Amino acid sequence: MRSSDAASYDAIVIGAGISGAVMAERMASQLNWRVLVIDQRSHIGGNCFDELDADGIRIHRYGPHLFHTDREDVWQYLSHFTRWQPYEHRVLSSIDGELVPIPFNLTSIERCFPEEKAQRMISALIARFGEEARVPILELRKEAEPLLAELADFIYQKAFVNYTSKQWGVAPEAISPAVTARVPVVVSRDDRYFTDPWQALPADGYTAMFAAMLNHPAIEVRLSTPMSEMLRFDWESQRIYRREGGEESLFTGKVIYTGMIDQLFAADRGALRYRSLRFSFERKDQPWWQPATTVNYPNDHDYTRITEFRHLMQPEPAAAATTVVYEFPKEFDPAAGDEPYYPVFTEEGQHRFDDYAARAKAMSQLHCLGRLAQYKYFDMDDAVANALEAFTALEAAIRSKSAGGESVPHG
Ligand code: UDP
Repeated sequence: MRSSDAASYDAIVIGAGISGAVMAERMASQLNWRVLVIDQRSHIGGNCFDELDADGIRIHRYGPHLFHTDREDVWQYLSHFTRWQPYEHRVLSSIDGELVPIPFNLTSIERCFPEEKAQRMISALIARFGEEARVPILELRKEAEPLLAELADFIYQKAFVNYTSKQWGVAPEAISPAVTARVPVVVSRDDRYFTDPWQALPADGYTAMFAAMLNHPAIEVRLSTPMSEMLRFDWESQRIYRREGGEESLFTGKVIYTGMIDQLFAADRGALRYRSLRFSFERKDQPWWQPATTVNYPNDHDYTRITEFRHLMQPEPAAAATTVVYEFPKEFDPAAGDEPYYPVFTEEGQHRFDDYAARAKAMSQLHCLGRLAQYKYFDMDDAVANALEAFTALEAAIRSKSAGGESVPHG
């Protein structure tokens, strides 16, 4: 990472998470641009940030991040910046005192019902959907056949309703069906949380992978730097000013903004809603705490799940203690210092977002990118793919402009 205080950049990237790091890396390596990346936090990597704790266990400060993708281009791209450690995520859910696989599968049925009934349910499921099918719970709930209806109701009530009302503050029907469809009912004994062909963790952690992406002579990173210290947006004149040493100057390069889009406008048309989480990390004085990386607690406690990081490490750490994190969902409240994690999709929120997005788009040098700026529930691989696509579009626009005789602006 460049540490010079050179006065001009071709692009300024707000946010050193997935979207910002991918764009910065692409712009520096493919366009030879000088890029400044700023982040208000004291570290790179956004919510993927991980670090070793005092016991040498790699923890994810913003909750468990398990990489999985079905996109070969994303896998190939990230593989330039990290080696991988194979890892397939498995989750158990605590239902009626039993720990059963989630996604709810044929083994889960056998653990929750008497043997003879379980077998009839399994036969009915296979007859209706076929082996290997993955059925969203809200779809299964539409089944009229009494045995399937009973099964659907059981899974819905025991695994989804209370978890979802803790996580989102509403019943499963009140959120986008795509959200609960992320965790289907599975007509097989596959107990993996994800089925993507590529599932792995960066061998030296996410932070090291992001450091490798940003480790380019043309990229400068400034941490603990709020955007307002560096930039001012003048929406009336459609101009962006750069702030440096008490001076302001017009900035004509690209600005890649990956923060909350409503913050660009001081939320003047109302704040966009998010769900947040409070993470409670605990060191347990024993080598292992639970039999899987993550155990969900849909029906008991105020937390939704416990994740034990030791399960993610290969080779196993020598520590005699283990670290777990409890996730307590809550409404996002910036005044309380919360982080915005999950967009809450409502019609009103969508209209607000469309309004902010249209105003941002009018400023052609500004690109809003990623989960917070595009108000999307992205998985990590979606965020990478989205940023790669944004770069491809930017590059095409730049090349066609320079083919037309215009020079690339320098700020
Ligand atoms: N969900 C649930 N019970 C579970 C797991 C998930 O009701 O045991 C629902 C819940 O609404 C959750 C959604 O499915 O928000 C998506 O779960 P996922 O594990 O994909 O969420 P993430 O890991 O992104 O928080």
